[in-house]
Amino acid sequence: MKVRTRVAPSPTGDPHVGTAYVALVNYAFAKRHGGDFLLRVEDTDRARSTPESERAILQSLQWLGIEWDEGPDKGGPHGPYRQSERAAIYREHVDRLLADGHAFRCFCTSARLDDLRVAQRAAGQPSRYDGLCRGLSAEEVARRTAAGEPFVVRLVVPSEGICVVRDARRGPIEIAWSDVDMQVLMKSDGLPTYHLANVVDDHLMEITHVIRGEEWVSSAPKHLLLYSYFGWTPPEIAHLPLLRNPDKSKLSKRKNPTSILFYERMGYLPEALLNFLALLAAGAVDGEELFTLADFVEHFSLDRISLGGPVFDVPKLDWLNGRYLRERLEGDAFARRVGAWGFTPERIARIAGLAQPRIERLSDIGNLLAFFFAGRLTYDPALLAAGKIEAPTVRKALAVMQRELDTLRAWESAGIDALFRRVAGALDIKVRDLTRPFYVAVTGSPTSVPLYDAMEILGRDIVRERLRHALEMLGLPSKREQEEWKNVGSASTEIPA
Ligand code: GLU
Repeated sequence: MKVRTRVAPSPTGDPHVGTAYVALVNYAFAKRHGGDFLLRVEDTDRARSTPESERAILQSLQWLGIEWDEGPDKGGPHGPYRQSERAAIYREHVDRLLADGHAFRCFCTSARLDDLRVAQRAAGQPSRYDGLCRGLSAEEVARRTAAGEPFVVRLVVPSEGICVVRDARRGPIEIAWSDVDMQVLMKSDGLPTYHLANVVDDHLMEITHVIRGEEWVSSAPKHLLLYSYFGWTPPEIAHLPLLRNPDKSKLSKRKNPTSILFYERMGYLPEALLNFLALLAAGAVDGEELFTLADFVEHFSLDRISLGGPVFDVPKLDWLNGRYLRERLEGDAFARRVGAWGFTPERIARIAGLAQPRIERLSDIGNLLAFFFAGRLTYDPALLAAGKIEAPTVRKALAVMQRELDTLRAWESAGIDALFRRVAGALDIKVRDLTRPFYVAVTGSPTSVPLYDAMEILGRDIVRERLRHALEMLGLPSKREQEEWKNVGSASTEIPA
């Protein structure tokens, strides 16, 4: 049997380093066994999935040097590889489960489910579906369906007993069926949820080993149940430990940049970042911390996966990247990499264009534009609140803006401009006064080349990190503040003209 693994990202945000880590392990496992590695796009969440995110994820994995044998961009014998294009396949499978009595239609309204949740919480019980619609007669289901009542399809789950999940790395994990919810498999819009689509696709795409993050352990019983209802042999399953912040909490962009694009823009080499992720997954190869992807693959086995939460330790990444820069780029290679990172003719043209109206000598360019070629900036934090607005408002503006910038679909100066005007309106301050601390945070100085153009050229990831750094100096917003400011300046609260 040919080994086949996959990575199955959901295109709902920036390309996350965790996706690359899971992809790398699946790639290494497949290649170690002469097998295939697939990429499948799990875009069943239509509200949150975007083509931009899909493109960025695929490009980032390619940039890192992880190649897949089958995928939405490459095709292959088991396509389509994008779940939004497979709706008919899922519907057919749901019908099968319904016909066999392994799933049932649920007509409960969201109001009822909310009440249920509240009651369960008050009683100190975990929130889950209580099975009301499981008891409906076939006639009633037919009548309500014919009457056009919206419904979802839920999984039938045994009420007692234990499910044993055999994790290839961790051994057996026991989960009581009473802890497993009657999962929604198909939403009222007729689209599948992750669980159904994932199992159906892993089977149809002949995946032999599912290696995924440990956040999915509790979903494994539902998946195993689906395999048995369909009469399919489940794949081998292994759960990887989650990447962690240095304080051991789950890696999150509030504490650490998590986007691969950020690391690219910061000037980490893809081979160094990949090596770093491989170290996190499985440690040194033959006692050596610097190794190639081919070395990693050659020595890879699931037993080498360390189960303790690997810490995404940026100083360690810096050290490794430094070694790559100094030791692994010979002759012209180094200069070529520097050029490709920050000095392509297109980038220089855009940046120079911003300087032209503002200089008297070409040598003024160094001071004016250095921030384009830097990572984190150093400046006196007092500068952030040295303008017309007071420090608490600057803090709030930075927090609101950081959140809202993340929601911009296209990263372009026109959209950034409109957002600044909206937030200035919401905070009741002049746009000019609002932008001043942002000039400081983004360019390191209260006056510079036009802010929105500079932000566009720097890119979302570097800007996000610079705003986060500024906020850190003024004090990151607390949970309560985030909640309090959640609607300030957001598009949804705008009063229609
Ligand atoms: N779409 C899921 C995710 O984004 C895939 C999880 C899995 O590997 O099954 O994490």
